[in-house]
Amino acid sequence: MTTRNQSEKDLLLRLRDIWEEAVAFRVTVVDEGNCRANHRVGQEFEFSWRSPEGICTESLIGMYPILHSMRALGDMRELGSSKRNVKVYSCPSQEIKFRIEALYRCNICGNKLQFDHDGVQSPQLQCTRPEFPLRVCDTCYTNYKDRRIEW
Ligand SMILES: [Zn+2]
Repeated sequence: MTTRNQSEKDLLLRLRDIWEEAVAFRVTVVDEGNCRANHRVGQEFEFSWRSPEGICTESLIGMYPILHSMRALGDMRELGSSKRNVKVYSCPSQEIKFRIEALYRCNICGNKLQFDHDGVQSPQLQCTRPEFPLRVCDTCYTNYKDRRIEW
């Protein structure tokens, strides 16, 4: 009995213990002007769910629809960008320009996933409880494809 429970436990991957956010953002100031948040060209912020310290709150709120779209794998070329995962955003005062780049990562280990003009190129695994797809790197796919995955 103990052996059976142990092997079932070994076959279960609990995502909540290892979860890596699938999408992160790198926001870089690419044009500066009169700015109360004192943004300067070259400033860079990298974040996922938590707001980055030091970024202008009005700009963060203004760019949020873009972040949300990127999180859902939205294609920025539909918004006039030349790259699928990059969009330049002008702040509400039209003073500062931010280059927003979506970074797509393996849900299990956090490694960067392959990305091209067709989108994220990665194998998928399935979380069974609750049910949702996971985008993972080749290594995690190989390591976990035979495991039961739950939150
Ligand atoms: Zn991985």
